[in-house]
Amino acid sequence: MIEINRIYWQTADDEMKARILLRASTDVSEQMPIVAEICADVKAQKDAAVLKYTEQFDGVRLAASDMRVSEQEFAFGITQVAPNVAEALRYAAKNIRNFHEAQKPEPMWMMEVDEGILAGEKVTPISDVALYVPRGKGSFPSVLLMLGTPAVVVGVPRIVVLTPPNPQGKVDPAILFVAHLLGIQEVYKVGGAQAVAAAAYGTETIPKCAKIIGPGNPYVTAAKRLLMGVIDPGIPAGPSESIILADESADPYKAALDLLIEAEHGPDSAALLVTESEQLADAVASYVQELVEAIESPTRRAFVLEVLRRYGGIVITNDFAQSVDFVNAYAPEHLEVMVKDPFSVLPRIVHAGEILLGEHTPITLCNFLLGPNAILPTGRSARTISSVSLHDFMKRSSIGYVSETALQRIAPHAIAMADVEGFETHGQALRKRLK
Ligand code: NAD
Repeated sequence: MIEINRIYWQTADDEMKARILLRASTDVSEQMPIVAEICADVKAQKDAAVLKYTEQFDGVRLAASDMRVSEQEFAFGITQVAPNVAEALRYAAKNIRNFHEAQKPEPMWMMEVDEGILAGEKVTPISDVALYVPRGKGSFPSVLLMLGTPAVVVGVPRIVVLTPPNPQGKVDPAILFVAHLLGIQEVYKVGGAQAVAAAAYGTETIPKCAKIIGPGNPYVTAAKRLLMGVIDPGIPAGPSESIILADESADPYKAALDLLIEAEHGPDSAALLVTESEQLADAVASYVQELVEAIESPTRRAFVLEVLRRYGGIVITNDFAQSVDFVNAYAPEHLEVMVKDPFSVLPRIVHAGEILLGEHTPITLCNFLLGPNAILPTGRSARTISSVSLHDFMKRSSIGYVSETALQRIAPHAIAMADVEGFETHGQALRKRLK
């Protein structure tokens, strides 16, 4: 029998409630010493240090001239993608592009806030951004679609992809295919902390970037935390997590299938079914037993088993209102709503990175090709942070204009405020303009 957490929320003790609500925080204290050494080394030795760590951690010896994917490697890699995968990636790219095009703000707006006073904003892309595409436990062309599409739609002038090489010293063909689809030409074979440091400081080969964005393992996360201030580290994306919010009308087989989706990411992920129906909970638990037995990959099965007895499982509430309260308190990265009328629940969900409605919208679809961005806030940060979007690749500048007549009218107010805040030269700049 597989051990699955079953938590009766009304009577659960504080320790259990805290464990479930807080789940795995990304503790990188263990990685920090080595990451600090890697970052200092890359800052001082540049390419030489990057190449040393690539050999040490990725097991492949590259020359500096091999670090950037060449035109020939690009062209060859693209041909290695199976036709059905190429078709799937093209389809996903289309939906993701459509979704992100709809997020486009006005490049500039202005309004007359008072007579003779104009104020507005202008949007500018970030000048250079590194997209970190992980490659260790798997290859993630979908991550490049999610990061690259908004960067391209915004018009970031220099987009750089950083991704660890495989043991043959190559970048996965599907990554090159997506880069090609997006029109991104700069792809570098570098991963881990050395990739973050290279983008932060710049090396002879890898350009210094203003921002790095993308998920990664604890070494990547530790480097981002350490180099915050040198480079903008983007959205914090920690271990994956999901909630299936279900009532008695949910199909238990589909709920069980979807409960396992995020559980296969890694042992520190969280995957919960939340329901007031004990009958549904029993049926889901029984399907989960069958489904877990049938997982072919021993690694993925081990991840799922660990998740179900650690931060995941089944939460049983008193009623549906308590289920909704639980969801909002948890603020999940992914939420599936499997209830009779899912649209009616939508207004009551206030904290979730993504809300997927109905039994035909499993997380898998959104992770790959529905359109919305699948790089989402984790660890309760969905209370204040949104998914990756166009806004991660641009910034706004405020604009103001005051006519001479308006200046004469409003200056006394500003002088009064400058005086009360004790800013002498602020006031002086206005006093000297008064007629
Ligand atoms: P990764 O690219 O993050 O890490 C691989 C790199 O780690 C290697 O290149 C190496 O340089 C470094 N490394 C490995 N062992 C090291 C050691 N002992 N010392 C120093 N550096 C070392 O790939 P990964 O490991 O597969 O991790 C990817 C993570 O991203 C996973 O946790 C996965 O769940 C997550 N992910 C999240 C999303 C999301 O949308 N939130 C999507 C995809 C992946």
